[in-house]
Amino acid sequence: MLNRPCPSCNNELSLRFRCNLLREPTVRCPYCAKDLQLSSKYQLFNAAVFGVSTAIICWVIFGMSVVWIIVISVVLGHFSQKYLDVLFPLEVAQME
Ligand SMILES: [Zn+2]
Repeated sequence: MLNRPCPSCNNELSLRFRCNLLREPTVRCPYCAKDLQLSSKYQLFNAAVFGVSTAIICWVIFGMSVVWIIVISVVLGHFSQKYLDVLFPLEVAQME
């Protein structure tokens, strides 16, 4: 269920394999040997969803002021967002 297809060859990549991206910026597909990275599209999407949901929780449950909400959203997002990103499909790394 947590497998995602390789964006290049469509072979299934397990969550365990994709978790290597928590330590490395790119991973090499074991099937087609392309370098893969977290999708910038999903990273942007997750950052927005994560920021908004953190802000709502802080505001509704803790009644925090706007400044604290922004600080907490940014700090939490910085440290935890990649754990969310590995759940989404990867993209082929662009080699400069
Ligand atoms: Zn592949």
